[in-house]
Amino acid sequence: MSADLIDGKAHAAALRAQVAAAGARFNAERGRPAGLAVVLVGEDAASRVYVASKARATLEAGMQSFTHRLPAGATQEEVLELVVRLNADEAVDGILVQLPLPPQIDETAVICAIDPDKDVDGFHVNNAGRLAVGQDGLVPCTPLGCLMLLRARHGSLAGLRAVVVGRSNIVGKPMARLLLAQDCTVTMAHSRTRDLQAVVREADILVAAIGRPLAIPGAWIKPGATVIDVGINRIEDPAGSGKTRLVGDIDFDSAVQVAGAITPVPGGVGPMTIAVLLRNTVVAARRRAGLGADA
Ligand code: NDP
Repeated sequence: MSADLIDGKAHAAALRAQVAAAGARFNAERGRPAGLAVVLVGEDAASRVYVASKARATLEAGMQSFTHRLPAGATQEEVLELVVRLNADEAVDGILVQLPLPPQIDETAVICAIDPDKDVDGFHVNNAGRLAVGQDGLVPCTPLGCLMLLRARHGSLAGLRAVVVGRSNIVGKPMARLLLAQDCTVTMAHSRTRDLQAVVREADILVAAIGRPLAIPGAWIKPGATVIDVGINRIEDPAGSGKTRLVGDIDFDSAVQVAGAITPVPGGVGPMTIAVLLRNTVVAARRRAGLGADA
């Protein structure tokens, strides 16, 4: 048996087209495009690539993109001042501060300084709280993208056993809350979980957000399960070519023999994250304009 591949690129392209149309409607109604501001502090190479691709995707969706770069030595006050300025800027509907921040900057303080209505990453405590109690807010992009893939595969998720491995604030916890809101029976696993294999084996839906290459082998997976691999890990090519390659937290080669459907790495969850960021920006723009969340 070989699992169906969940094509994140195709789903992301469809979502981006939908968001571009919603953005165009917003522009027509309000006489300005929705705007996303991205703040990059320092010179981290991976962060620079992410920020550039977010800016490009924002422009491709017909929205306005503002990139603000601060030097690696920027002070907490300088970062907070910039966030305060962006909060007050009417052309800015979404603010994203690229993480990680340099060690002298308090990440939590910066995230909490963002206007929750412009917090398109959904990391602000108000948005985390809204998700926890089932109120409308802005939802973190990666788990929302995973949920969209699952809904596209299953329709209703009600009653399914879902296991989320990883409990970070940006992926694991919001993922579990989203699945609970879909009436799944949810288990959260983490580094202190006893007998992870037995827990994973229960899952009709398995979401791995661990950050450990190939940590979950196919032998642990329930036959027919839907497997969402959030992990992005760079490893040396086992074939010994001296190059590196990206792998997920799931051992894809063995999992694909057992699962019913699985996301590849790359090309699974990753493309959804940026598409949902654009979607969140249009949602934020519409809500701020009192138009309701049509994106
Ligand atoms: P964190 O490091 O913040 O969290 C990792 C979680 O995995 C923790 O809860 C940790 O448990 C748990 N964990 C670690 N080791 C084990 C283990 N051996 N068994 C079970 N659980 C374990 O990572 P993130 O949530 O930020 O990211 C997870 C992965 O997803 C990374 O590979 C990251 O690169 C990727 N990612 C991908 C995105 C995308 O767009 N595709 C977006 C965001 C992240 P504990 O809490 O006990 O320490």
